[in-house]
Amino acid sequence: MSAIESIQVDGEWRAALGGAQREVWDPADATTLARVAESDRSDVDLAVAAARRAFDGGPWPRTPVSERAALLRRVADLLQRDRETIALVESRDTGKTLEEGRVDVDDVTAAFRYFADLVVSEGAGRVVDAGSSEVHSVVAYEPVGVCALITPWNYPLLQASWKIAPALAAGNTFVIKPSEITPLSTVHLVRLLLEAGLPAGVAGLVTGAGDPVGARLAEHPQVDLVSFTGGLVSGTKVARAAAATVKKVALELGGKNPNVVFADACATDEGFDTAVDQALNAAFIHSGQVCSAGSRLIVEESVRERFVTELARRAERIELGRGTEEGVECGPLVSRQHWEKIQAYVASALADGAVLRCGGGRPEPAAHRPAAGFFFAPTVLDHCHRNMRVVREETFGPLLTVETFRTEEEAVALANDTEYGLAGAVWPAEAGRARRVAGRLRHGTVWINDYHPYLPQAEWGGFGRSGVGRELGPTGLAEYREAKHIYQNLAPRPVRWFTG
Ligand code: NAD
Repeated sequence: MSAIESIQVDGEWRAALGGAQREVWDPADATTLARVAESDRSDVDLAVAAARRAFDGGPWPRTPVSERAALLRRVADLLQRDRETIALVESRDTGKTLEEGRVDVDDVTAAFRYFADLVVSEGAGRVVDAGSSEVHSVVAYEPVGVCALITPWNYPLLQASWKIAPALAAGNTFVIKPSEITPLSTVHLVRLLLEAGLPAGVAGLVTGAGDPVGARLAEHPQVDLVSFTGGLVSGTKVARAAAATVKKVALELGGKNPNVVFADACATDEGFDTAVDQALNAAFIHSGQVCSAGSRLIVEESVRERFVTELARRAERIELGRGTEEGVECGPLVSRQHWEKIQAYVASALADGAVLRCGGGRPEPAAHRPAAGFFFAPTVLDHCHRNMRVVREETFGPLLTVETFRTEEEAVALANDTEYGLAGAVWPAEAGRARRVAGRLRHGTVWINDYHPYLPQAEWGGFGRSGVGRELGPTGLAEYREAKHIYQNLAPRPVRWFTG
């Protein structure tokens, strides 16, 4: 297998200065998919220096907004041209199904188009009323500078795009570091940016480990902003490293997301079927390796037994296998290490008194499910309570815990009883209750009678320890801009504040 030149500096593709490489694994059978460059601090320094030069002296920050938008639209077209190739790369690298890979490509295409439209509609700034005809006052939108973008392994293309599209729309230059576990689609995306005509140096890419590669980016004195998506532990380190040089910091971290089901939502067969179906989708899509996964089912006591019985019956029938195989509904976990972590969570839940309703470990191997793959059966853990580790910590796997409530007050208290605050859902039949409960949930996204959809035009991000800042929407663009107030006195004269 040939090694991929995966470092991009100043328009050139290259290997790591030290010559090191890393193997990227196919999680469906634990074979090697590719070898990529393993950067060190000196590679980061080169990439940042190139991005710095491109920002300070290059054309991109001064390119008219309409031209920047046109480039983003070309990237969107190229993503669609390469849709199948990218979906396949993403599926083999992360384990997700081919169809999920296609959905990701379509979603990021929409994000590039959205930010192209937004930056044109917002323009280069706004004129403000200074309260005097002798003053002309404008607030100009300017790029922040060199951005360090650090992304996780579960949605590599999507997370990269949610950062790259607004960063470029605003006129920044950047260096991106994808997860060392799943770097391949980001390499492809950066190739498309260059093909679309982005000037050399604007888009830098370094592949390699969180520490030293991500750590060096976060602390680098020539970097102006760091936007990080990943876990709470690494995010805390990034914030600490960035503080030394007072960078702007955006953090998209984990979640422990409640899916609250009221009994009245299950009053009809159709309502019951929909709520169960969506609870499965919430918890098990991409084997639960989703920051917003609905991993805590909080269900009204009166419907618990019927709900959980049906849920477990359907969870057992989810077809696990290699994501590229026809008929497969869920892929493997991303790595052996992650598989072991999930198994440890199941063991701790059982030791804490949870009742296993289905799953709990490795499914039987099959032709489409190699024994060496990191498959973990969708798992429902009943009779859980808020003091269990499996309820409090983000497991990031196919584990669904079940808690119950009797009153609306209790449901809200349980749903908010987490240090995180990324997302959650509520399933009531009564419209007043839907709005009331949604209004009281301390989470960045709340779905009513749905789970998982998001819109590029609506902000995404977390309350509490789920992060700082927002991606997508107008706020997602504003993260990458400085607002500069230019106040011009049209009739200057002495003010005589000092009389001498
Ligand atoms: P992670 O924190 O281990 O790694 C994320 C990225 O940070 C990787 O590129 C990694 O190499 C890098 N990194 C690790 N240590 C670093 C350090 N000291 N300095 C700088 N960079 C460092 O997370 P992961 O396991 O890749 O991803 C899973 C996590 O991401 C979950 O917690 C999930 O909830 C979160 N996530 C959040 C969102 C969101 O939108 N809020 C989206 C996707 C994933």
